[in-house]
Parts: sequence; structure tokens; C-alpha cells
Amino acid sequence: MTLLDRAIVSLLPAVPRPVVQLFSARYIAGSTLADAVRVVRQLNADGKLATIDVLGEEITHEEEARAIAQAYCDVFDEIEREQLDSNVSVKLTALGLGLSYDICRANLEDVVRQAAENRNFVRIDMEDSSTTDDTLRLYRQLREAGHENLGVVLQAHLRRTFDDIQALADLRPNVRLCKGIYIEPAAIAFTDADAIRANFVRCLDALLDAGAYVAVATHDEWLIGQAVHIVGARGLGRDDYELQTLLGVRERRASELVAAGHRLRVYTPFGERWYAYSLRRLQENPAMAGTIARATVGRLFGRAS
Ligand SMILES: Cc1cc2nc3c(=O)[nH]c(=O)nc-3n(C[C@H](O)[C@H](O)[C@H](O)COP(=O)(O)OP(=O)(O)OC[C@H]3O[C@@H](n4cnc5c(N)ncnc54)[C@H](O)[C@@H]3O)c2cc1C
Repeated sequence: MTLLDRAIVSLLPAVPRPVVQLFSARYIAGSTLADAVRVVRQLNADGKLATIDVLGEEITHEEEARAIAQAYCDVFDEIEREQLDSNVSVKLTALGLGLSYDICRANLEDVVRQAAENRNFVRIDMEDSSTTDDTLRLYRQLREAGHENLGVVLQAHLRRTFDDIQALADLRPNVRLCKGIYIEPAAIAFTDADAIRANFVRCLDALLDAGAYVAVATHDEWLIGQAVHIVGARGLGRDDYELQTLLGVRERRASELVAAGHRLRVYTPFGERWYAYSLRRLQENPAMAGTIARATVGRLFGRAS
């Protein structure tokens, strides 16, 4: 990204919502569960798996958190009814982590129990670093309580992640490894792109050494190459790991990876609370900053497309 792009990206929160919605439509299945079902059906037909995310985060009322937990239970019913190949991803702040740890734990347990009844799986997304300790604590507690159908996410940009892997090793965790999207201070996070990549590879090796099932979540061509090389060198089979991408990002490349025989899962968000997720996706799209700036200026002067 150029300096100008970076400056524009930092101003994204000031961009009118309709412009954000226009440019982020590709990243979101739609506003309803029926939209998500339609998108996942197509992904499955293309040989891709899915993980469905009910959009919502930083929930401030207990009833809202409860409603999101219920929405996930509806998702499991629909996955089963439609015979889709999909699991789900949840954000703990959507399940009430900002209200209380116990409310969040109760909601998460309900979702995980429902998933088990439907022979399905729940992955806890990782949010900003203020939530890392609680997320890993909750993951451990639920795994120790016997919930095997639960996975978590680790972020390679955090300096602590290598140590977190060692601490989780006894659980033989199921981990999605990603770079990490939340902006963190240099004291706790690598900020240089090459340092993040190097730590990603180091953490991937450490996870595989620990016997973890790893979902490698990146669109970074260099990292995809490293991951494919590492799993190949270790003699891992198709069912021993997976690659993951986001809906709307590098879809042709994802199809090539499927054609090459890799298990690949696409993160598929849906729902009415699209704004925060959309901003994050636009912030990391290298081609988007200038386009949005032009559209915003056009709109301000009555020439919006
Ligand atoms: C399945 C999945 C789940 C994730 N879950 C989490 C999570 O729980 N917590 C968390 O902090 N982060 C999560 N992330 C986001 C992740 O941390 C990164 O911010 C994101 O994947 C971008 O990093 P990258 O590795 O793809 O590399 P980048 O260097 O950012 O991207 C590589 C290339 O991919 C393309 N690209 C990337 N993003 C976009 C975009 N939005 N639009 C268009 N093109 C794009 C560009 O061509 C870019 O050059 C997840 C990512 C994936 C794929």
C-alpha cells in the first residue's frame, strides 16, 4: 500500500455507510440465513467447505448475545436440513464477552452442545488482544469439560502466540492460524510484514509438532507456498490439515488449491450487522483505498455510481 492508501484507509470509518456497503458486498453472503445457505451450497458444489459466521460483535445487551447464540443453533439446523458441508465461527464478544465471562461461557456452551447434537464443529474467532486471555481460558475450560468439537484461532502477528501454542499443546488443539487483523501496539505485536510471515511459519511448525489440526488461513501467496511445502514435507494427507480463505478474496486461487487436492474452507459471514466486518475487509484490500476515496468524493459531489 502507498502512503496515500494508508492515509485513506485510516479515514475509512468516516466513509458513508452506503459506500462501505457497496464495496463490501462481495465479502458477505447476504443479510439472511437463506443467503448464507445459497452461497454455501455453491461453495460446496465447487468442492469447497465453509464456515458460517453470524455477523455481530461487541454486543452490549444480554438478550442480543442470547439471540446470536440462538441464531447459531438455527444455522446448525439449516446445515443439517440442507446437507451442507459447513461448520461455524463465533466471536466471543458477540456471545457477550464484553458483558461478562460467565454469560459468554453459557452462550458458547449452548452453541457447542447444539453443534455436538448436529455432529458439527465450532471455531472461536480471535478478536483484539484485550480478549486473548479470556478466549484461550474459555477454550481450555470447554475442552477440559469434554467439548471436543471446538477450535480456536491464533494470530501470528502477536509476539505471545508461539508461547500460547506451547501452553495449548496438551489439548492437541484444533487451530486456525492467521496473521491477525486487529491493529496492536509494537510492544505486543510484530508490525513488519516479513516478521509476521516468519512468525507465521514458525507457529505453523510448532502447531504441527504439537499434533494440532491446523487450518492455515491466509491469501498471502508466499505463505500459501510455505504451508503447502511444510504439510507436503511432513507427509500430511488431505484430511490432516486445511487451507482457509475469506468469502470474496482470491476466489480463483482458492479454486486452484481445491483442484490441486487441498481441503479448503471459505469463511462465509451473513447478517444485518455487517459494518465492522466490512470495514476490516476494506482496510486490508490493497486495491480498495483509492477506489473508495474516488467513490466517496463522487458521492459527496452528487456523482455516486
Ligand atoms: C478464514 C479466515 C479467518 C480469519 N479469522 C481471523 C480471526 O479470527 N482473527 C483475526 O484477527 N483475523 C482473522 N483473519 C484475517 C487475517 O488475520 C488477515 O487479516 C487476513 O487474512 C489478511 O491477511 P493475509 O494473510 O491474507 O495476507 P495479506 O498480505 O493481507 O493479503 C495477501 C493478499 O490477499 C489479497 N487480499 C487480502 N485481503 C483482501 C481483501 N480484504 N480484499 C481483497 N483482497 C485481499 C490481496 O491480494 C493481498 O495482497 C482471518 C482470515 C481468514 C482467511
